[in-house]
Amino acid sequence: MKKPKKTEEPAPGLFGAAVSPAALPQKKAKSVFSFSYSKLALYEECPLKYKFKYVDRIKEEPKTYFSFGHSIHHALEFLYAVKAPPFPAAGSVLEEFKRDWNLKSYLEKGYRDPAKADEDYQKGIEMLSAYYRHHDGRFKLPFLLEYVTDVEVDGLLVRIIADKIEYLGHGELALVDYKTGKDVKRQPDQLHMYQKICELDPRLCERVHEVYGDSVPALRVKQMLYYHVPTLKEYAFDRAEDAEISVFWERALGVAENIRGRRFDPAPGERQCAWCDYKKLCPHYYGGENSRPSQSPEGDVVGELADRYGRLREKIDGLNAQLDEVKARLVSISPAPGVLAGKEYELELRRAEKWEFKDREAVIGVLNEFNLYQKALGLTVKNIVALLSDPAVPEAAREKLLRHAEKSGVFDINLRKKE
Ligand code: SF4
Repeated sequence: MKKPKKTEEPAPGLFGAAVSPAALPQKKAKSVFSFSYSKLALYEECPLKYKFKYVDRIKEEPKTYFSFGHSIHHALEFLYAVKAPPFPAAGSVLEEFKRDWNLKSYLEKGYRDPAKADEDYQKGIEMLSAYYRHHDGRFKLPFLLEYVTDVEVDGLLVRIIADKIEYLGHGELALVDYKTGKDVKRQPDQLHMYQKICELDPRLCERVHEVYGDSVPALRVKQMLYYHVPTLKEYAFDRAEDAEISVFWERALGVAENIRGRRFDPAPGERQCAWCDYKKLCPHYYGGENSRPSQSPEGDVVGELADRYGRLREKIDGLNAQLDEVKARLVSISPAPGVLAGKEYELELRRAEKWEFKDREAVIGVLNEFNLYQKALGLTVKNIVALLSDPAVPEAAREKLLRHAEKSGVFDINLRKKE
């Protein structure tokens, strides 16, 4: 394999920050659907969860393992992002880890306890020190770091972010993915997606030519490697067969089709609901015993109670419809506040306000913009109206919410039975 040629380009940056402008993905027409492995995995876990995250754009809680992984990735990228050796000293790598770690408070990183955050910080320092010692003197310049690309295929604009790509010569690549969690699970879908997209990506061929001078008509991913930083172990996987890729891709296209068709049926289950940030909003949350059908010997009693509950609800709905009708007639005959008396009951008619927010997406947008979603505790009219009178809510947020509100006057009725 040829040595990398010197280039005037900046070193590739974390999350693509310093990828050369020519290599940056071009903006695509709106009809092309942006897709990724994360979207595929989330939809398959629970389509409704996908909707909360990607359609309604409701932010998830910060996760400690993401923050930790991000800072470790950042330090490793700093280590390898040199144009030529020498590589940075161990102290500088640890300093860079510390700098990135301190960009956010422990709460912003998802910790509830500052002591736990400190513990993880120390773990990160030890992990990186061990990595450095293990590889010291054997550091190699990678072909690409944190390579971000968007490739259009079958009407999808598929994004991948590869932690590290090595060029093996003769048009062959090795992809490296750093793992920082407790264990390494082979995720064939992720590997399949990376293999397919890298081999279709014309920019990668251009980069190989620029850096190594090799003119190859196409690239082949020869190997994919998970590097488990906590244990310094490598887990290598050979390229998948074409047939395997094709089965996977049919599945991915099916998921994309469902998303485009706005099919977001919930898929509640113990595992997915337990880790779901949208429990509070989700009427289908699998909340343990209460949401499971009874398998006990009292099953018949439970079934009977369920039917009785249903029948009562039906009656209540019917009575509510009658109440609405009588109220409307009363208000049309006596359209001013006051007391209306019958032989048995007295009704006090009072004016009240009725609020409506018709553009749900716009309200979600305002809540997200001002980080008010958690404060609102759900998308009910009552909760949103409460925000309007909350002194802690910024004036700008209040004004924006009011733009989407419709307020009308209605009558409330207070009822009293005569003595
Ligand atoms: S709580 Fe469960 S069913 Fe509801 S969105 Fe989350 S994972 Fe899906």
